[in-house]
Amino acid sequence: MNEPVRDTRAISCADDYDPNSMPVEKAREVIARFLAPVTATERVSVRAGLGRVLAEDVISPLNVPAADNSAMDGYAVRFADLKADGDVMLKNAGSSFAGVPFNGAIAAGQCVRIMTGGVVPQGADTIVMQEHVKADGDKITIGKGHKKGQNLRKAGEDLATGQVALKRGVTLHAADCGLISSLGIGEVTVYRRLRVAFFSTGDELVSIGTQPKEGQIFDSNRYTIHAMLTRMGCEVLDMGVVRDDPKLLEKAFNDAAAAADVVITSGGVSVGEADFVKDLLNKLGEVVFWKIAMKPGRPLAYGKIGAAHFFGLPGNPVSVMVTFYQFVRDALLKLAGCDPVPLTPSFKVPCTSTLKKAPGRTEFQRGILSRDAAGSWSVRVTGEQGSGILRSMSEANCFIILSTDQGNVTPGTMVDVQVLEGII
Ligand code: AMP
Ligand code: MG
Repeated sequence: MNEPVRDTRAISCADDYDPNSMPVEKAREVIARFLAPVTATERVSVRAGLGRVLAEDVISPLNVPAADNSAMDGYAVRFADLKADGDVMLKNAGSSFAGVPFNGAIAAGQCVRIMTGGVVPQGADTIVMQEHVKADGDKITIGKGHKKGQNLRKAGEDLATGQVALKRGVTLHAADCGLISSLGIGEVTVYRRLRVAFFSTGDELVSIGTQPKEGQIFDSNRYTIHAMLTRMGCEVLDMGVVRDDPKLLEKAFNDAAAAADVVITSGGVSVGEADFVKDLLNKLGEVVFWKIAMKPGRPLAYGKIGAAHFFGLPGNPVSVMVTFYQFVRDALLKLAGCDPVPLTPSFKVPCTSTLKKAPGRTEFQRGILSRDAAGSWSVRVTGEQGSGILRSMSEANCFIILSTDQGNVTPGTMVDVQVLEGII
């Protein structure tokens, strides 16, 4: 578990912000100050390491490549044998193929047939492409215009023995698993997974399998949160639905905080409901309630319950996802040991829709990025943007991020988008 933070109260008292209109950037900054990454580690096989965070540098135990080798199909020669102003004829003394090297050294006047990846024989220092020679039996004629060392990959040029191949704090992707294996390493030291407990609050919620009565709805947030956490590689603890009852909530907060590094709830932070949750959390820990200057996802609670970090997300299904991706994701990655926390790529594209936007808050509209027949990318909005319309997130492949000062958007305007899915 993480060390308890002593001065969470600093968030609520010492800062020069207005909790009724907290800028997105400021909220991120304040949260980041209180995050101490996990320190416990474990050893796992390279395959099991996919998606895990490295807890130690991976040091190369060997040179990559192990020996000087050819980057081309051609002939390994001694550069000193070549002529600057005309042809020279060398004798082919043998061959060096990938995995089947030439035995011995080449002497003056000799060359060796070499294929891509073949070890450069002793004595040779230059590779001449096969397209640049005339071969007649074992007589190889080579013209002028070559450079010493050309087409040759030097031993250790990718990685030298003792060099850092991968740094502590990186999340292992497919290429990293391959890279580690290429060094002959079978196990890596990674941080333990972050444990995250979560529950939904609300008297109106029923779980799947129960017939909703009038005014009741199925709890979907728990499934979204479960999925987002699972995709991030967290150890998840689903604590179900908790009624809006102080006794039940107190027990749920305490149980969750005792079992996990992070507690996430949805619902119960909006005006009206927040008051009794606020009193409860003041009793159990150090939690601040913010109204973030953003849409959707205005109310957000953050703080500590005992040693656990707490994120109180809004109840509306889209708000849950937006606040998760804009605040919780980075915090979880930092707590999990990611160093640096990878940026989510964002870039500008023309927007083909008309967007309604009032200045004064950051908006995260749901968009669909697509490419036209000519290969140009643009974004359009998914349609209705209500914070309860989860279909808008389901159809989206990006957020359209409209900054605080931005007003209405007319078609053709360049807008910032943040893609929801990466390729690795
Ligand atoms: P609240 O923040 O608790 O006032 O909830 C705001 C809105 O989100 C209300 O319409 C709730 O019914 C809805 N909501 C709250 N929790 C969930 C949930 N777990 N699944 C689906 N909708 C929810
Ligand atoms: Mg509620």
